[in-house]
Amino acid sequence: SKLPADPILENTRRQVTNACFSYVTPKQTSKPELVHVSPEMLHNLGIPEKDAKSDIFLNVFTGNQVLPNTKPYAMCYGGHQFGNWAGQLGDGRAINLCEVEHQSKHWQLQLKGAGETPYSRTADGLAVLRSSIREYLCSEAMFHLGVPTTRALSLALTGDKVLRDVMYDGNPAYEKGAIVCRVAESFLRFGNYQIFAARQDKDTLKTLVDYTINNHFSHLGTPSKATYIQFFKEVSERTLEMIIHWQRVGFVHGVMNTDNMSILGLTIDYGPYGWLEGYEYGWTPNTTDRQHKRYRYGNQPNIGLWNLLQLANALYPLIEEAAPLETILNKYKTDFESGSLNMMRSKIGLYCEEETDVKIVQALEDVLHLTETDMTIFFRNLSSFKTENPTEGLNLINEAFYKPNEIVGNIEKRWNDWFNSYAKRLQSETLSNTERRKKMNAVNPKYVLRNYMAQLAIDAADKGDYKLISELFNMLKKPYDAQPEYDKWFAKRPDWARHKVGCSM
Ligand code: AMP
Ligand code: MG
Ligand code: MG
Repeated sequence: SKLPADPILENTRRQVTNACFSYVTPKQTSKPELVHVSPEMLHNLGIPEKDAKSDIFLNVFTGNQVLPNTKPYAMCYGGHQFGNWAGQLGDGRAINLCEVEHQSKHWQLQLKGAGETPYSRTADGLAVLRSSIREYLCSEAMFHLGVPTTRALSLALTGDKVLRDVMYDGNPAYEKGAIVCRVAESFLRFGNYQIFAARQDKDTLKTLVDYTINNHFSHLGTPSKATYIQFFKEVSERTLEMIIHWQRVGFVHGVMNTDNMSILGLTIDYGPYGWLEGYEYGWTPNTTDRQHKRYRYGNQPNIGLWNLLQLANALYPLIEEAAPLETILNKYKTDFESGSLNMMRSKIGLYCEEETDVKIVQALEDVLHLTETDMTIFFRNLSSFKTENPTEGLNLINEAFYKPNEIVGNIEKRWNDWFNSYAKRLQSETLSNTERRKKMNAVNPKYVLRNYMAQLAIDAADKGDYKLISELFNMLKKPYDAQPEYDKWFAKRPDWARHKVGCSM
């Protein structure tokens, strides 16, 4: 089925009705320059590496040239932002170039930062180098961590300047413009469906849902009411699976608005995201969300559910029955309980399920919150724990504490108590210390893109030095491997980086 397009063929801002997308032309850039290209994505798309050095590649992936027989477009969507319906949003700075089919996979290629579209509202349609490096590095890193995500093909400078309020001092300043080419099977979001439900445009809603099922959920069969319910069930399951992965690796998305929720359950829209350093349920990287902390680490699973409820509301006109949707939402809750327990079991190396595991996991989360404890270092070092040696536990993980001298008295005692109960619990397991270590290291990454690491790469790139981008990109391809040559990145956040966070614009 074909999706209805906006009949107006220009980029100017407007409300677009009865259409799923608008044809647009990417903006010309003055002096485009490639900063980095992903060899894995070239391979996935069937583009030979030498072609990435051509002028065509540079021009196409910075928007200066439109490939023959393609018609770039921006999608119309709405969304709930921080819990409130925000009306039409849409691809305000994303332009879909074309679709590539290679080795029976379908990929949409999308430029982020290629200029104004009908959906740009009051903003400029552009992206800066800072946020583009963050998206480029993090989306590929997430893929290699085994987290469902959109990918990235290329990172380029436009040669143009972009005016931004720099978050740290609040003063407007010019920054280098950049464009990332993002890649995914589809960039459809919950908000793409919500907008038509909100406008009571059931026809377009049905066309889009049928299109989605036929193209991306064809295993569910011919669209019908029953299929719509199955579709919602699968979106719900994929969303939960993605969020449990986030919890496992310590990723905090930062802006889980419904327009940033992929219908395929991919991590999408890397804005003010951050990685947990201290293990802290209340942490959010988003400085605009510091009051309510709606999108804090510990709340991500609940927000996933809230967002799915909004999607259920959007699909309701096609289903006209609440009960099956409610059943699916209730299942999300129980699946979350069991899924996150199993995820935590795997992080601490418990493979024979025991009734009391919930308690030992809860007790661990409690001690982790006693003082600032680095999540990545803690879980990675815990894999070296020896069942017969619980008193060594604290020593093993000592480097995870931001203030090791706080580990005295009652705090020290509580940690030792936990290690004792852990050692006891491990006696019911069948794996040797070495075997357990290997399995734990396959789910507890050694290397993640800590906020200060991205910041160092950004600062260097701003001065024209891209070596650190390459170094981090390469290291993050094997986040679970020891890679001793990168040991300096297996370290706590340095003190200077304590209060710095990324920013989305
Ligand atoms: P976000 O919070 O990044 O998910 O963005 C919310 C909405 O604002 C989306 O519709 C974006 O496309 C749009 N948007 C964000 N930044 C820009 C920008 N610089 N220019 C135009 N639209 C933007
Ligand atoms: Mg967005
Ligand atoms: Mg964004």
